[in-house]
Amino acid sequence: MNTDLLFKESAYYIDSGADINDIFRLINYGVQQMGLGIIFFNKEKKCVYANRHAFSMFHSEENLEILSDIFHRWISSLGIDVAAATWCRMFKNHDRERLYRVRHRNVIDSENKLVGYMYTIQNLSEIVDNGTGEQYRLTHDELTGLYNREGFNESARNILTDTDKNYIILYSNIKDFKLFNQLFGLDRGNDILINIGDLLLQHVKEDDVYARINGDHFALMMPKDRFDEKQFKKLVRAVTNKVTSKTYSLHFQVGVYDIKDPRMDISLMCDRAYMACKSIKKDGVCEIAWYSDEMLVNALLEKEVLSSFDFAIINRQFGIYLQPQVYEDGTVFGAEALARWMHPENGLLEPGVFISVLEKADQIYKLDRYIWELAAQQLSAWKDTGLKDISISVNVSPKDLYYLDIKREFTDLVNRYDINPGLFNIEITETAVTSDVNKCVKLILELQKAGFKVEIDDFGSGYSSLNMLKDINADVLKIDMGFLRKTENPRRAQVILNYTIDMAHELGMDVVTEGVETEEQLDFLKGMGCRMFQGYYFDRPMPVNCFEDKYGQNK
Ligand code: C2E
Ligand code: MG
Ligand code: MG
Repeated sequence: MNTDLLFKESAYYIDSGADINDIFRLINYGVQQMGLGIIFFNKEKKCVYANRHAFSMFHSEENLEILSDIFHRWISSLGIDVAAATWCRMFKNHDRERLYRVRHRNVIDSENKLVGYMYTIQNLSEIVDNGTGEQYRLTHDELTGLYNREGFNESARNILTDTDKNYIILYSNIKDFKLFNQLFGLDRGNDILINIGDLLLQHVKEDDVYARINGDHFALMMPKDRFDEKQFKKLVRAVTNKVTSKTYSLHFQVGVYDIKDPRMDISLMCDRAYMACKSIKKDGVCEIAWYSDEMLVNALLEKEVLSSFDFAIINRQFGIYLQPQVYEDGTVFGAEALARWMHPENGLLEPGVFISVLEKADQIYKLDRYIWELAAQQLSAWKDTGLKDISISVNVSPKDLYYLDIKREFTDLVNRYDINPGLFNIEITETAVTSDVNKCVKLILELQKAGFKVEIDDFGSGYSSLNMLKDINADVLKIDMGFLRKTENPRRAQVILNYTIDMAHELGMDVVTEGVETEEQLDFLKGMGCRMFQGYYFDRPMPVNCFEDKYGQNK
């Protein structure tokens, strides 16, 4: 299982031909200086080796069987899973108590066969207040032996009180670490965290404070003048190299908070570093982002959006604006329904403020269902009016594909409001389609069979547009002119646009160009054979009654 995964430190590897006793002695020689106790068990769980420290730590005679017996009785009295990677517990003997940190490793030979088990035991009693271990446990992380959140806060506070140096806090997250645990198991996940802890210990200097705050989040406080991004990335790469896999590689996201006011609460500083960390969208092995006050404003805004969202839906604070879709002579054939939040305190909010927040929080489906229903009601209200042939397009968020049965949602609306599905157009963004092409191919076919028109929104904004077209047979491609404005190479973009329009027509799709702002752009697009448009040049999105007033009469 998972043999492509090389855990270079989760187990000790030995040569299959080597004499095991020689190897034990060699390892022992290496750790003797550090005062660690070592106990080896063979694969039958018989104790085959222990060093002096181990005997004395467990007050045992130099007899392996007796030591093994004491050791196992101790473990079973603690109710600990023997194979757990690392743990810290008190060992009581007569009237003395000591705090031991025990680390468990499998010993594996070069043919990947289990040879035995090794325990290293570290006596932490000296660094523990009056030998109770209580204070140590309160301030340290059991798994890695680093500080925990409390220990970090306390030590960081002590350092900041005594210095006038400028410090920074780094806060790291491992991208998709939950997924790693799911794929490879908690033990391997723990091993990675231990390795990170070890590496941190090897690289930090004495005026650094480092901790595992929780899960896969580590924090480090260090003087700003010693932080070198390049060096830091190199170190992180060294950590990630410890885990090499065809299926998984570690991606670190690191947020940095530059401490301006050393009297501020340490946990608030960590929150800010974490905010910076969460702002990272890129996918590199080690991405670093510095905190800015704008992040705080955004985070507060996000919070506000999410906390008032349910209330806003219930109280019908959301509505639609309609933006006309026109032929080249300006006659209207349809409209796009765009969500607007009529906020009681903040006034009219545009989608830029709330759509991405709701998407991130997996709440967008609630808004979308609501907006689709408003659009269906509108089509129904227009049935016997001059606007009866006008279509309305609605947006489908990529997340909706996972939370909703899209086809059922739309057919239910059609039935409930007795409307023509041929006027109810469904916009799916290109990125949603590329995220799961097979699912979308099926969905689009089903929707078309039920009479709906499917539009691919924001076509050209992703990177796999052309490839996607061979699989997707949509009714309309919506191309956003915005991409012409954003490019550094408008000449090439124009050539691509020209061919895309031709190709879409060739494939039997209509093309709607969005974002048309000037007459010049319109002429240019007409020259390329584009016949359907949407953009400020014709009209901005407007309230429904304005749309009806403007376009209702001349129909
Ligand atoms: P979209 O679906 O591509 O909608 C077109 C956006 O372009 C609208 O912005 C529209 O006002 C804007 N636009 C139209 N013509 C022009 C122009 O000539 N120049 C410029 N610069 N912009 C133009 P809006 O209303 O702010 O919506 C932004 C995005 O929010 C939409 O992009 C869509 O992705 C999303 N959105 C809006 N309503 C909903 C909704 O109900 N559900 C979901 N899931 N997303 C929505
Ligand atoms: Mg759209
Ligand atoms: Mg669009």
